[in-house]
Amino acid sequence: MTLLGVRDTALLIRNVELYAPRPLGRCEVLVVAGRVLAIASTIDPGHSLPLRCLDAGGRLLVPGLVDSLVHIGGGGGEGGFATRAPPLGADAALRAGVTTVIGALGTDEVTRGHADLLACARGLTQAGVSAYVLSGSYRVPVATLTGSLRSDLVLIPEMIGVGEIAIADHRGSQPTLDELARIGADARVGGMLAGKRGTVLVHVGDAAEGLSLLHALSTRTPLPASGWHPTHINRNRLLLAQASAWSARGGSVDLTASTTPQLLAEGEVPAAQALVELLGSGVPIGQITLSSDGQASLPQFDADGRLVAIEFAAIDSLLNSLRQAVHQHGLSLATALAAITSSPADIWGLPRKGRIEVGADADMLLLERDSLELAATIAAGSLHVYDAADLRDQFA
Ligand code: ZN
Repeated sequence: MTLLGVRDTALLIRNVELYAPRPLGRCEVLVVAGRVLAIASTIDPGHSLPLRCLDAGGRLLVPGLVDSLVHIGGGGGEGGFATRAPPLGADAALRAGVTTVIGALGTDEVTRGHADLLACARGLTQAGVSAYVLSGSYRVPVATLTGSLRSDLVLIPEMIGVGEIAIADHRGSQPTLDELARIGADARVGGMLAGKRGTVLVHVGDAAEGLSLLHALSTRTPLPASGWHPTHINRNRLLLAQASAWSARGGSVDLTASTTPQLLAEGEVPAAQALVELLGSGVPIGQITLSSDGQASLPQFDADGRLVAIEFAAIDSLLNSLRQAVHQHGLSLATALAAITSSPADIWGLPRKGRIEVGADADMLLLERDSLELAATIAAGSLHVYDAADLRDQFA
């Protein structure tokens, strides 16, 4: 239920334990015009503001989640037209605690395109979910909006990077090192000209070569490893084991949170468990993100490469993975949060996202202290309250 437009009035959130994502203890947070104006143990806003107060009842206040990969226009289609996934709805994202999404095309760049992707992003943003878009496509040569990756990044404000470019996958177009180098260079220069990071999201399939192309790029070109962000690294143990060497070069990795029982049986490592293992092997938290791969198809192929079943990835897998990391694996909440807030914000170059600090966008979640269930989402000017009667009653 949407209770308040916090663009129209200042909101003072009281009685919270703040994770920014680092733990800051008991705080009050003042939101004005959709931005965080003050954080202190006690805030006296004076009398000049039209102000509403929210007593959060001692709940945890954490940054809104930043989802590094969502097929916001709908993915899928690998089983024919009846298997295309629908676009992401803003309500589904906010209900899952996701306040920022990075949207990308999927396998199908024939019936899906960047104009539609951009329209979906703008629709989400208008509905309160900050949405960004990647240029390029699974296939190489890449699909673009304006005719070149560099122009896309320079001219389209929402386009902040490139991807998913598929490697090591039978559904990809088997790009060569030279082709990838050109993509990386265009993303880097286009990003530099526009003041963006220009990160390239790389879809890594289950072929044995894994990250070897990215290592070769890092060795043979001056492009830094930090410009490539390979995803689906937890799809099997062989690939997960390659993450440490990649991170030692300065590269980052993304873990897919939407594991199904079928994928588990096929060897996928749940993202929460993979996160704990990577941290244990020395990969810094700043180089690890989790994404939902929301609205992607999760196709199952038989030994001959024939599609036998398909379902779609859900965006609520980020919060589920957070709970698993904390409750089942004993990871600290601050560290688990970083993988879905500050780390992706840094890797995508979004300084006002993924943190609760003065000047940041007021994208925040209220979580129940023990269960870590979502009680409320504050995003881009609105307060949405879910199963928390005491919060709702304050605005009755
Ligand atoms: Zn992918």
